[in-house]
Amino acid sequence: MAEGLAREGLVSQQLEVIAEQVRRCTSCRLYQTSKHGVPGEGNPNAEVMLVGEGPGFHEDAQGRPFVGPAGQLLTDLLARAGLRRDEVFITNVIKHRPPGNRDPLPDELDACFGHLEQQIAALKPMLIVTLGRYSMATFFGPNARISQVHGTTTVWRGITAYACYHPAAALHQPKFRQELERDFGGLSRALEQARQRAGEANAGADSPDRVAATRDAEQLSLF
Ligand code: URA
Repeated sequence: MAEGLAREGLVSQQLEVIAEQVRRCTSCRLYQTSKHGVPGEGNPNAEVMLVGEGPGFHEDAQGRPFVGPAGQLLTDLLARAGLRRDEVFITNVIKHRPPGNRDPLPDELDACFGHLEQQIAALKPMLIVTLGRYSMATFFGPNARISQVHGTTTVWRGITAYACYHPAAALHQPKFRQELERDFGGLSRALEQARQRAGEANAGADSPDRVAATRDAEQLSLF
């Protein structure tokens, strides 16, 4: 219990340090044309981290992720998956709004990636849920196509990632609504799969071979 609270406090602190770095970031041109950096927000104990594309008009105005119409839909989709917003952590691959909501440029994605890496390292999520193609490409690789991989998982640096269409896709094109609902319908199964994978990886870490290797290393270090 006390250990859990200590971890929560530490992770909150780390996330706030990263958030401040995002707000002050001048690593690419986007800070010049946006009102606020949008670091992301959520529960420091979250098992699920959602990664969208980048702030839009409403997010730029408020400095918070997914607070416009796409955010309302995201909240509804999460509820269908049995999750509340205050249980998850929500962020984006790009932390400042591209002008006119244009697509992020490769150098902007590169410049922002370090912030996301730091957030993942602090939070250590069990499952990363990618929203839209830019987020998907970050975790599934540049050659993956969202039409093929949405609703499926991959393992990125030891963490399970699950691809979903972006909620805004359903707002712009109603034909995506069903696909999006199906993606979020699979979220709890993806989380279960991620927990199982992590459990097996941990068990592997304590396997007899590993324990013996550790013990041998400790014995060696005695000399
Ligand atoms: N779309 C995104 O990708 N991110 C937001 O924060 C809002 C809309």
